[in-house]
Amino acid sequence: NSRDLIVSFGEMLIDFVPTVSGVSLAEAPGFVKAPGGAPANVAIAVARLGGKAAFVGKLGDDEFGRMLANILKDNDVITDGILFDEGARTALAFVTLKSNGDREFMFYRNPSADMLLTEAELNLDLIRKAKIFHYGSISLITEPCRSAHLKAMELAKEAGALLSYDPNLRLPLWSSAEEAKEQIMSIWGSADVIKVSDNELEFLTGCEVANDEAALSLWHPRLKLLLVTLGEKGCSYYTKDFHGSVDPFVVKTVDTTGAGDAFVGALLTKIVNDGSIEYILKDEAKLREVLKFANGCGAITTTKKGAIPALPNETEVLKLIQ
Ligand code: ADP
Repeated sequence: NSRDLIVSFGEMLIDFVPTVSGVSLAEAPGFVKAPGGAPANVAIAVARLGGKAAFVGKLGDDEFGRMLANILKDNDVITDGILFDEGARTALAFVTLKSNGDREFMFYRNPSADMLLTEAELNLDLIRKAKIFHYGSISLITEPCRSAHLKAMELAKEAGALLSYDPNLRLPLWSSAEEAKEQIMSIWGSADVIKVSDNELEFLTGCEVANDEAALSLWHPRLKLLLVTLGEKGCSYYTKDFHGSVDPFVVKTVDTTGAGDAFVGALLTKIVNDGSIEYILKDEAKLREVLKFANGCGAITTTKKGAIPALPNETEVLKLIQ
């Protein structure tokens, strides 16, 4: 199949996470490097499941940027779409999950290299070859990356790609909640497939607890599939013909980082393997089978620390779900 490429667009960065869990950033005795960034995680999730993945984005021409590019390469992700900015540094974040369940973030982005990708620098060939073009919304926040993001979406759409969107809300990166909502909704209507978490659904609709009515209120005419991930409760799906939920797998969870990206990577890989989204959506049972696989992929990712090291291969997923 010549058209089997999944292109993931956006940020890749290094998270510094405390060496012990449950502490605030100020209390951390030390940090370890955890490479991430949702679009890059999705690319690696796809490649690890045996799919053909490429990443498009910009890194700093520094030790961290080279390390990240090597991680993608080592994981068989096509890196032709990566640029190195000579002036700016690779994005960094300090992130912790406190004992009360709240996340605390501190970002180095003033500006980081990923924010400086320009329209003129886009690898047009790669984007035009995408069967699926996947993106988040952090690359929408500031120029010039915002224009590059919008142009890349347009190019991919013109070339016939399926557009896949995971808003991946990191609220502290926006100057206000209103602005975050406005930017997320500004590209909402272009996507064919959207995955949100239950928290994002609550944020976007103002509902107290994620529910069908809230999800359906976000439906738009060109949307083919809307997914709401519910952590240890599995996921819900919405299509123009049917909606329902798929149960999770019970695993020994140690760190949920990257579960959503693993879920998306699994879904996109299955769409490509099965030939088209239309094929998967023809029959609810087929869609449920695909989402069972995606739930399994998400579940396994929670059984190990970090995102990238925890992403499973196909054999591991099949072993859990069969
Ligand atoms: P997001 O990053 O989108 O918030 P979630 O944490 O909801 O992602 O996880 C994505 C998927 O991974 C879920 O839909 C679920 O199938 C699986 N998953 C996440 N956390 C757990 C868990 N604790 N136990 C089992 N499966 C999980």
